Amino acid sequence: MTSTLPMSFADQVAVVTGAGTGLGRAYALELARRGAKVVVNDLGAARDGSGQSDAALSVVEEIREAGGEAMADGGDVSDYAQMEAMAARAKQAWGGVHVLVNNAGILRDRTFAKMDPADFEQVVRVHLLGSAFATKAVWDMMREQAYGRVLMTSSSTGLGGNFGQANYGAAKAGVLGLARTLRLEGAKYGIRVNTIVPTAGTRMTADIFPEEAYKAFEPENVVPAAIFLTSRDAPTDVILAAGGGVFQRAWLTMNDGLLLPEGARSAEDLAAAWPRIADRSGDHPFETGMDQAHHALSMLLKAQD
Ligand code: NAD
Repeated sequence: MTSTLPMSFADQVAVVTGAGTGLGRAYALELARRGAKVVVNDLGAARDGSGQSDAALSVVEEIREAGGEAMADGGDVSDYAQMEAMAARAKQAWGGVHVLVNNAGILRDRTFAKMDPADFEQVVRVHLLGSAFATKAVWDMMREQAYGRVLMTSSSTGLGGNFGQANYGAAKAGVLGLARTLRLEGAKYGIRVNTIVPTAGTRMTADIFPEEAYKAFEPENVVPAAIFLTSRDAPTDVILAAGGGVFQRAWLTMNDGLLLPEGARSAEDLAAAWPRIADRSGDHPFETGMDQAHHALSMLLKAQD
């Protein structure tokens, strides 16, 4: 499909995992409409990850009917060999992969007290390992092309926690750390890595959202964020929440902290200084993990002057 839209994906190949339904389907349709050749990956699982179907095929048909190019892939993101096979097929058919949207996901909600450890493991496998495996499978290709756009999918649960979602929250917070590290390693190869935090009425939220909210949060409202974050001029290291037409940027922040003098660094000293240690007036986003050590070191050196 030749796209004349300013944010065009013509001559690009995009892989969207979990694109047989919900958000992934909406991303795949829009990427194709904007000219990308799209690998529609989906295992066709139920919401809890059980079973399999040919969900990806129907989205491929939708794309083709609209004049676009797409191929279906029934690979399981949590199986690295299957992700490698998917990447190899894309390369063979279309020469590479320029955009990867890690979107596939499942839910197995229970309170932590009642959660089966196997359900904890499987949710982490699909969201966190699945994102790492799909990305690893295209990483060398992106480095060789000196171009790549990777979008991770986190969740408000990953940022803020949510009752009954310890497995999901852990996996979705893990995805953030993965994204923040990969954008550093990918930068000199033209690879940009961002994270989307969607809110959408899909089967994942069908029994959670009230009916009106479900309608207001159509997946299409999230699509502009995914397109922006995977486009040629995309920023990198952005965490962008999107839902119902509202877009919010999130940061991980730290305050300036307080240097407790030597000899006055006991737990009791810390507790006594707590209001000053916890003061958020100096909150700032930190750019890399090393920032914390650098900041502490510079406070120490300043105190010694
Ligand atoms: P959805 O259940 O409609 O779609 C998820 C898709 O992933 C399904 O088509 C499913 O078959 C596929 N999938 C599951 N396991 C897979 C595997 N191992 N390999 C390949 N495909 C697999 O859910 P959705 O609401 O569209 O969610 C998409 C993503 O957005 C998920 O990562 C989800 O956690 C995240 N998210 C959604 C919301 C929301 O409000 N809907 C909120 C925060 C985060």
